[in-house]
Amino acid sequence: MVLILDKTEPRVSTADHGERRPSLIGLGREELRESLAAIGVPPTQLRMRVSQLWSWIYVRGIASFDQMTDVSKDLRSRLEAAFTLERPRIVSEQVSVDGTRKWLLLLPRRGREAQAPEIETVYIPESDRGTLCISSQVGCTLNCSFCHTGTQRLVRNLESEEIVGQIMLARDRIGDWPGAVPPDDARLLPEGERKITNIVLMGMGEPLYNFDNVRAAMEIAADGEGLSVSKRRITLSTSGVVPEIARWGAESGTMLAISLHATRDELRDELVPINRKYPIAELMAACRAYPGLSNAKRITFEYVMLKGINDSLAEAKALVKLLQGIPAKINLIPFNPWPGTRYECSDWEQIELFAEVVNRAGYASPVRTPRGRDILAACGQLKSQSTRLRASAPRGPGEAGGS
Ligand code: SAH
Ligand code: SF4
Repeated sequence: MVLILDKTEPRVSTADHGERRPSLIGLGREELRESLAAIGVPPTQLRMRVSQLWSWIYVRGIASFDQMTDVSKDLRSRLEAAFTLERPRIVSEQVSVDGTRKWLLLLPRRGREAQAPEIETVYIPESDRGTLCISSQVGCTLNCSFCHTGTQRLVRNLESEEIVGQIMLARDRIGDWPGAVPPDDARLLPEGERKITNIVLMGMGEPLYNFDNVRAAMEIAADGEGLSVSKRRITLSTSGVVPEIARWGAESGTMLAISLHATRDELRDELVPINRKYPIAELMAACRAYPGLSNAKRITFEYVMLKGINDSLAEAKALVKLLQGIPAKINLIPFNPWPGTRYECSDWEQIELFAEVVNRAGYASPVRTPRGRDILAACGQLKSQSTRLRASAPRGPGEAGGS
């Protein structure tokens, strides 16, 4: 069901020079402090103002400075003149029969971008939790052969504002702020008070190729006086950018998921081409060294089920063997087809047989139920229409190496 279709470009918040005002969303506390100092907030008030604004923005979810009732009118109008709290613009919102929601979002144009880029964000409700799957890049520079996003050329990395903006937008749409009006179909939402309990960086893009912005955004998502999604409930999924895995572990400390998909280099080279640069043995060594692993903090290994490609029982056994000694969860993902793909999803019986081998080795409930298939919201089906229009558009750091 498509609810909204609005293809107009994001409204430009015009300051005197006709440029988009900078957003306060996505700034860390220190940057917020600097921004307030820049519009003349006296040094003695900065600490108090940062904490006030932080709470209005991230606890209450207000989208307009007018609503900040404990901030003087004069300061509110200075904030309004200098900054924005706008969310990404919604191009379309689709709600699946199973309650999964997918938003196609239009981002503001930056720099010399000829076209406003589009990204997708997906919300997956269950009775006891709600998971938001967010994008870290427009498209992806890697070309995993079974992934729809991989067929789209990267336009650019998302800014911290745009990553946090996806969370803000989703909370707006599902009424997940204190006192917010619930949506008409609230029966499809989880029962608890919080509707977004988990965040997964499993949307478009390779998050470790946008390291700094993703880290800044996740610090804001996890801030206990703000959005308050604990790092134990944030999972970054990577195709295996080995050098950045250790850094991510040291600097961010969220949960980690690895898109493994094959147990032999020859096959993984084909499915996940970054494997040519960082082969399985190196990837496994990085996993073993990930800080803080225990039975309570395991790495999730994702394994897409491709008919006749990687779904034999010998491969199931090899998978179990490969992960020996690593505190791990295994997530078998039924392949989600997309127009033009050369792969098919494994037969259900084969997935069950494969899962049985994995189960017998002590891994519980390994099959990920596909969600939102009717609205192409399932893993790997995301692909916006954005393409790189100019060779001069900013490139992600992954472009040099990738695949
Ligand atoms: N770039 C990161 C995160 C985004 S992809 C990564 O690759 O890990 C999120 C997950 O969806 C990955 O495990 C990816 O391999 C998987 N995926 C991609 N395309 C898929 C498809 N068509 N069907 C099922 N899973 C897919
Ligand atoms: Fe990029 Fe992940 Fe898709 Fe591979 S699976 S192309 S890394 S989004």
